Amino acid sequence: MNHMPQKPVLIIGAGISGLSIAYELQKRQVPYLVLEATSHSGGVIHSFNKDGYELDAGPNTIAATPETLEFLQELGLEKEMLYASAVSKNRFLVRNNRLHAISPHPLKIMGSDYISRGSKWRLFTERFRKPAPAAGEETVSHFVERRFNKEIADYVFDPVLSGIYAGNPDLMSIAEVLPALPRWEREYGSITKGLMKEKGGMAGRKIISLSGGNQRLTRRLQELLQTPVRFNCSVKHINKAVDGGYTLTCEEQGGEHIITADQVVITTPANVAARQLAGLDAGVAALLQEVYYPRMGVLHLGFEGSALPQPLEGFGFLVPHAEKLHFLGAICNSAIFPHKAPQGKLLLTVFVGGARQEQYFDELGAAGLQEIVIKEVQSLLGLNAAPVMQHFSYLEKAIPQLNVGHAKLRDAVAAMENQHPGLLLKANYVQGVALPALIQHAATLADSLMKN
Ligand SMILES: Cc1cc2nc3c(=O)[nH]c(=O)nc-3n(C[C@H](O)[C@H](O)[C@H](O)COP(=O)(O)OP(=O)(O)OC[C@H]3O[C@@H](n4cnc5c(N)ncnc54)[C@H](O)[C@@H]3O)c2cc1C
Repeated sequence: MNHMPQKPVLIIGAGISGLSIAYELQKRQVPYLVLEATSHSGGVIHSFNKDGYELDAGPNTIAATPETLEFLQELGLEKEMLYASAVSKNRFLVRNNRLHAISPHPLKIMGSDYISRGSKWRLFTERFRKPAPAAGEETVSHFVERRFNKEIADYVFDPVLSGIYAGNPDLMSIAEVLPALPRWEREYGSITKGLMKEKGGMAGRKIISLSGGNQRLTRRLQELLQTPVRFNCSVKHINKAVDGGYTLTCEEQGGEHIITADQVVITTPANVAARQLAGLDAGVAALLQEVYYPRMGVLHLGFEGSALPQPLEGFGFLVPHAEKLHFLGAICNSAIFPHKAPQGKLLLTVFVGGARQEQYFDELGAAGLQEIVIKEVQSLLGLNAAPVMQHFSYLEKAIPQLNVGHAKLRDAVAAMENQHPGLLLKANYVQGVALPALIQHAATLADSLMKN
């Protein structure tokens, strides 16, 4: 028989992490309570409608594993699940103001004129290059230049990391953001061999989104929780209680009060978690404070379909930083999920800012930046008309950067969790930023809490 904790597990934050942890605990009959600083659930998942377009300012697509699909079905979201169209298998990279098709398989790049013959040779011969793993943490650029060359780092890996993290490969840790690659080097002696053997790690995944926007997911989770989320309750500090367990100082309805718990799960952004943990573990707090979240902008653009000289049949396009455009890439939502735009319209979601381009907000201002980006997108796609719908969302802190040095934070968090049983940090900078990973970790965590 399982021992039930006396007090509810306190979960701080009602984003996908906090809500899915609460849901999994509920399934296992473990009492819980979610504390959320704002008046709504979802965290960075934010969906809305404008002029008949369904827009997402946070995650637009979910690379769902079979477990994610099962989870969504279990939540009763089967009817809302939209599967990506067949054409979205096509993905494009930008070079010299042209879209280059680089898919479905990354190694198809060999047959395109996107990279030079010298780089193709480096790709082809990579399997014969001796593995020479670096001793310490290695940046993505260092790793890729070592296994391939600078052109492949700048024109293949840079845009891919922009697409996932809005990140800077000169800073990001390869072991954190593309862990399969160093593993392939260790296990197969080669990245290209690993890629072919494991089909790039995407095998069995389906690209999906939800009708009505991805916030349907967190709204549904919120609805299913029998213990309502406690909104407008901001957790300021976490401390040790005199008689064991923890005290949470909460700001609510203009006053501060204490909630006690034996188990606390923190899912807040790193800078918030730093303040919350400052009194309990100054070392972890200092490392959390250092986690870098670049500013980002999400620009939704709607066009008449007739403005495009030829249909854009693909998932979207990514722009290498070396191309010196003012955006990171764009998703072509109406090609992936035709349902997301009114009939006959094109919907693009363009990402700006991030670790390499956030200075544009200061140099150009949000309005100036949008103007330039629209011109660049028009020129790239040959669009002969102005957008008929435009919406800009600015994110002060978007995606945590798993840069070199992150391993130190991981170790410090593990040590803190050991030293303070029942205190758990389960945020996206620890578990990985993708929704399927966060959902999966919620189930694993709930299992481990049930065993306690
Ligand atoms: C622009 C963008 C695009 C993305 N695209 C994708 C994608 O296509 N696919 C994908 O899988 N992932 C994507 N991601 C990543 C993914 O959306 C996030 O990693 C994930 O949603 C984070 O969820 P979370 O619950 O861990 O954190 P958050 O969503 O940050 O939730 C934390 C919660 O804590 C609350 N909180 C903060 N302070 C306090 C406090 N003091 N007390 C109580 N509560 C507090 C916040 O209000 C918030 O609700 C994207 C992210 C962004 C920003």
